[in-house]
Amino acid sequence: AAAPTAAYLAGLNAEQRHAVETTEGPVLVLAGAGTGKTRVLTTRIAHLIATGSARPGEILAVTFTNKAAREMKERVGILLGGIAEGMPWLGTFHAIGTKILRRHAELVGLKSDFTILDTDDQIRLMKQVIQAEGVDEKRWPARQLAGFIDGWKNRALAPAQVPAGEAAAFAGGRGAALYALYQERLKILNAADFGDLLVESIRLFRENPEILAQYQSRFRYMLVDEYQDTNVAQYLWLRLLAQARRNLCCVGDDDQSIYGWRGAEVDNILRFEHDFPGAVVVRLERNYRSTAHILAAASHLIAHNEGRLGKTLRTEDEPGEKVTITGAWDSEEEARLVGEEIEALQAKGHPLSEIAILVRISAQMREVEDRFVQLGLPYRVIGGPRFYERLEIRDALAYLRATVSPADDLAFERIVNTPKRGLGDATIQALHAHARAAGIPLMQAARLVVETEELKPKPRGALRDLLTAFARWSSLLETMPHTELAETVLEESGYTEMWQRDRSAEAAGRLENLKELIRSLEEFPDLPSFLEHVSLVMDAVENETDDRVSIMTLHAAKGLEFDTVFLPGWEEGLFPNQRALDENGRAGLEEERRLAHVGITRARRRAKIYFASNRRIHGLWQSTIPSRFIDELPEASVEVTEAPAAYTYGGYGRSRFDVMEPFGSSYRTPGWQRAQAHQRAQGGRGLIGAGGGGGFAAGRGGHAGFDDAREEGFGQRGRSQD
Ligand code: ATP
Ligand code: MG
Repeated sequence: AAAPTAAYLAGLNAEQRHAVETTEGPVLVLAGAGTGKTRVLTTRIAHLIATGSARPGEILAVTFTNKAAREMKERVGILLGGIAEGMPWLGTFHAIGTKILRRHAELVGLKSDFTILDTDDQIRLMKQVIQAEGVDEKRWPARQLAGFIDGWKNRALAPAQVPAGEAAAFAGGRGAALYALYQERLKILNAADFGDLLVESIRLFRENPEILAQYQSRFRYMLVDEYQDTNVAQYLWLRLLAQARRNLCCVGDDDQSIYGWRGAEVDNILRFEHDFPGAVVVRLERNYRSTAHILAAASHLIAHNEGRLGKTLRTEDEPGEKVTITGAWDSEEEARLVGEEIEALQAKGHPLSEIAILVRISAQMREVEDRFVQLGLPYRVIGGPRFYERLEIRDALAYLRATVSPADDLAFERIVNTPKRGLGDATIQALHAHARAAGIPLMQAARLVVETEELKPKPRGALRDLLTAFARWSSLLETMPHTELAETVLEESGYTEMWQRDRSAEAAGRLENLKELIRSLEEFPDLPSFLEHVSLVMDAVENETDDRVSIMTLHAAKGLEFDTVFLPGWEEGLFPNQRALDENGRAGLEEERRLAHVGITRARRRAKIYFASNRRIHGLWQSTIPSRFIDELPEASVEVTEAPAAYTYGGYGRSRFDVMEPFGSSYRTPGWQRAQAHQRAQGGRGLIGAGGGGGFAAGRGGHAGFDDAREEGFGQRGRSQD
């Protein structure tokens, strides 16, 4: 065994060390943000290997994202300094599930080279099933079924196990039957969706005890990070594998449970002690990440939640800078202020890689990204595509490009059959053949083709309508205001409607992004200059540098830390998000508050909160009120920063202080609280949630939002970032 003073143990406190050295039997580390839970896991892996308790291949460690897995591998490698051969099984539930499933694919009706469907393919397949069953697809959209099926898979429910009441919610009680048919089709296609990676592994283990036994004996030690966000399927999977040896170490923080909407169950924490009697529970109380003010702000905020397991947190760090709260006139000014602060930090020598901007919904990124491009500040978007690379934005841009430049073949081809107009591959091939032969653009070729008998009447009619529409839109370029034209194009083409009809969780976010796109047009004199701007933004990523600001959603920020964290958009309706409140009431509010808590606790030295008094929502400017979460911060640890010198906004012709007045120098005025109370009493749907949209764009991207979804931009067409 390694000497007790092994270098990798020296950096731990007594409790951390206890968690590392208690290698046998179940261990639950229940501790707050920044207390070193992840560090404990990494050290534990090193310890198991260094003491010879396990060979690397006998250790299974589960992280929440692929990125976290890569980092953990790196850190274990450093701790061990090349002592060990091979690597532990280290990855997300889905990555590990895939690895196991490929080895035994034939036992669940697949071949080892099965394909993993992305969201688009998954939806397409469900559409086919729905159509084949004669279910009205307009009334019962595939995306909605996808939501149900994902939910069932999160709970490890096979079609036969779906509770009747839930099956009844889709297509007059046919939900479970469609789910069963969908599973059959997957097998025929030799494909699995994300949910299957775990559900099918569980089935594999249950139906083949000898295989389960093989893995149970292989994985002598199992470790799980971010345990508070595991769902039922993940829990069952873990329990099956850990049952024999019981050497399972889970670390988590109930105050950071932020994926309840996706099926995560905080109760898994309570269940752990029940299912693994005799578990050693370790509590870590010293926060090593943040200054005292930041920690005080985060602790005070989260204390407003009920039903917490309860923890003590302390820091021996200096008080540091107070958490700042800054009001802006509107979201554009907010982005400008953030940009200025970052430039100021940069001028003082702070690396950009130590700065993060954490937003509630992905649509908030647009203004920040635009501002950064103007300032020439390098940035990266973590956990999803950049704003202009999102599926719906690329589609919309393709419409606009084809309107401005009818010779833009890529743009035309992208949307010729989006939404579906019956212009399938055969039509596209015919157009390509003509275009190539005559050396002309696709749209021009299409104009010739519709005059012939080459296409069947239906596609010919559809294509003719589309061409007529494009001709009309192009002719309006000179006369119609460009924002109006863009809205017209998206509406007349049926594109907006396509998402309006879509009842999936992600559709609302997509519509929100489309609105944000239209809004961004206002900042440019015409469509061509806007499109040029977009191509510049898209190009900015080529400018490779590691020293970049990170922009991401709060959901994607879990487990990470930065010296400086910017938290824009702390307004009622946006954050807490109205949709979460509407759908889940008190529980929804508490999950939003945990998200705020996660946001603040990402900061080591500086946390900077912003709110805007005006935000454009659903195409309309609305005045907003600061988030109740701002109210819930301890006065002693926050500082309301003075707004910069008063100046008049050309476009609105008012001084910012006209509007700032209610929460000008003292944002805690009773007047403001009265305003909030009033708004809530009025039904409280004023802000982002007003049109039933808003919400969850970020977290729900890639409908199921699985690890890879968040991290690799899963489910989005086109170039993924990084
Ligand atoms: P989160 O809940 O946010 O995931 P965590 O509990 O996993 O946080 P870590 O990320 O492991 O916390 O640790 C937070 C920071 O504190 C890291 O920078 C880590 O290196 C540092 N740290 C942890 N333990 C110690 C220690 N004993 N001495 C010095 N630094 C430590
Ligand atoms: Mg961690």
